[in-house]
Amino acid sequence: MSSTSRENTGQAAGGSHYDAGSDNDDYDIRPSTELSDSDHDLLESEDERERLLTQKAGISGLFGKSVKIGGRDGGSKRAEMKERKRALDTGASTPSYDTEEAVGESASSLLRPRRSSESDEQRLLATRVQKKTKRSKRWRRACIYMSIVCFFLVLLAIIYRLSNSSNSQVAAFTATAISNGTSLFAPTTILISLDGFRADFLYRNLTPTLNQFVAEGISPKYMLPSFPSVTFPNHYTMATGLYPEAHGIVSNTFWDPVLQKEFYYTDPKRSLQPFWWGGEPLWVTAEKQNVRAAVHMWPGSEAHIDDQQIAYVDKYNGSEILDRKVDRIMDLLDVPGPMDIGVKADVPRPQLIAAYVPNVDGDGHRYGPNSTQIRETISHADAMIGGILKGLQERTLTNIVNVVVVSDHGMATTDVSRMIQLEDLVDPAELSHIDGWPLYGLRPKDPENLHPMYEQLKRKHGENPNIEIYLRENMPERYHFSNNDRIAPLWIIPKAGWAIVTKSEFDVEEGKKKGEVYHPRGLHGYDHEHPLMRAIFVARGPAFPHKAGSRMEPFQNIELYNIICDSLGMTPAPNNGTLRLPLKPVGLHNDEQDAANETPNDPVVSHTLTSVLPSATPMSAVISSLSSLAASASGFADATASLESSILAPTATSTTSAPPAQSSKPAHKHWWDWLTDEADRIEEWVDDFVHKHNPLDDGKGKEASEQRV
Ligand SMILES: [Zn+2]
Repeated sequence: MSSTSRENTGQAAGGSHYDAGSDNDDYDIRPSTELSDSDHDLLESEDERERLLTQKAGISGLFGKSVKIGGRDGGSKRAEMKERKRALDTGASTPSYDTEEAVGESASSLLRPRRSSESDEQRLLATRVQKKTKRSKRWRRACIYMSIVCFFLVLLAIIYRLSNSSNSQVAAFTATAISNGTSLFAPTTILISLDGFRADFLYRNLTPTLNQFVAEGISPKYMLPSFPSVTFPNHYTMATGLYPEAHGIVSNTFWDPVLQKEFYYTDPKRSLQPFWWGGEPLWVTAEKQNVRAAVHMWPGSEAHIDDQQIAYVDKYNGSEILDRKVDRIMDLLDVPGPMDIGVKADVPRPQLIAAYVPNVDGDGHRYGPNSTQIRETISHADAMIGGILKGLQERTLTNIVNVVVVSDHGMATTDVSRMIQLEDLVDPAELSHIDGWPLYGLRPKDPENLHPMYEQLKRKHGENPNIEIYLRENMPERYHFSNNDRIAPLWIIPKAGWAIVTKSEFDVEEGKKKGEVYHPRGLHGYDHEHPLMRAIFVARGPAFPHKAGSRMEPFQNIELYNIICDSLGMTPAPNNGTLRLPLKPVGLHNDEQDAANETPNDPVVSHTLTSVLPSATPMSAVISSLSSLAASASGFADATASLESSILAPTATSTTSAPPAQSSKPAHKHWWDWLTDEADRIEEWVDDFVHKHNPLDDGKGKEASEQRV
């Protein structure tokens, strides 16, 4: 638009936008030949003017000289003056020139004939002056030429210097940038977290995009969260590479005894102050290293950590539809790059885009991880990833932009049969603060009461194998959950799928008697190595130049920070991770013999075996599932998980003495669990079937309730 109008203006003004007279700006961009022609004309007229000026100078110079050299007396001069005046008065062409006007063959000589009575002395003087004037003219002309040459030399020097000053930045950019045909892209990574997306959700035939993504990229079977397996500690661990005990967000809610303040994750007034957030998150690392960052709702991103300005921070909005997230990410990629026309310093194209997707977690809590409703939500999340990958494809960015999809933890089904009344373990009146949830960090009002309380809990623990009791000092090392004052001195940690509640929240005895349904129907926060807590990591792009479908050993999410830093060429801040790019695959996913075994079992014990076997269930699937379960029944899923974890987890310290969570149970209990679990699956299938074939049942109303994440 602007170039066209400028061109038109140029043509209107001078017939050519290169016209020197029309526009000073255009002057600067004239081709060099036109420039010299024009300058030549300019110089000729300049010469003429100089010539006239020189004459004047000569006249005055001669006048001075004549006075000095001529030595005429005043009387003769006066007589000459009178003569000249007379001639002028009569209009006659009488020669009346004085010595000044006799100088040189000037323009005035054309108007008036030279006086014949000029003395030889005067003539000699005039000749000398004439010669001097000619020398002066040549000198001035040379000066003008020199000035022009100097001007251009200075101009060239400025241009060279300007280009040199940004040379290092430009060189750094172009060395790493890749073109998609229309723009150069510096290393770019999109990191997406699907909150609560359990690893085995990938095996439900609901996620064609993510399955394709796994087939094209590199991934472990699952990524382990950090302890406790709740949202805020884990998102901040992924962002910093630090264990929760190291970065300080030790739970979704906790008491800081030094600050005498409570952190409460959903309350901005009690969570967004920078002093809560230790370590250096990805977006701060990025901006510090001149890698522009866009953070879309990632927990912690709204706290002004290190007082670092972040290019884009999108405020949390839990009800934002997923399509808008796709649009937002694509809009960020469409911002002009550093070398593009229209680039603006205050609207940079981000290289790091970190986006948070809460939906799967929300519905996992509301309806449970095996519900019909969660299936739809998983599909939607998958479609959202599909939207992003499609957007990249449309922009020819598939092989230019890295995409990393992760989740923060899994989800376990709750049940009224797996509930513990807090009052049965400890008197809440003796506590000053209760941290965390569904695990309980206890702070006794009287510090002296800590050890008696611990002993009391251990006695009760003996009666209930479904909880673990620890002092902060004797917390299992693999939890990395002791080295921070924000961690309460005493903990009750329920086994996966168990919930501890106060009577005011839910009366367990009453609930059991009345057959009430406990909400939330899904929970997480348990032992981070439990199979139901497993998260995902899938990566694709130029930073992951591995064979399609590469499989790597499972790792804990403290490794993510280094991986993302490396993908962007950033130097990571000190952290607990040890994995660096390139990742080291151990094989391909399709090498695996039986992927179905990766689906863990819910610890459901509340249902009895129904005699209804749905005719539509593929028998082969049931048999396969049953046989795989039977194979591992002696150890139950927890034991298998612990074994796998101890072999596969990357850091030795994080895998020591992983106790088989339920392996101490008698064998008949395992078989009972297995039977009831299968019954639960069948019931879920029936629910699903009924839901699908009954248009009047929206399937949601009866289960909608308040949720606590
Ligand atoms: Zn979460």
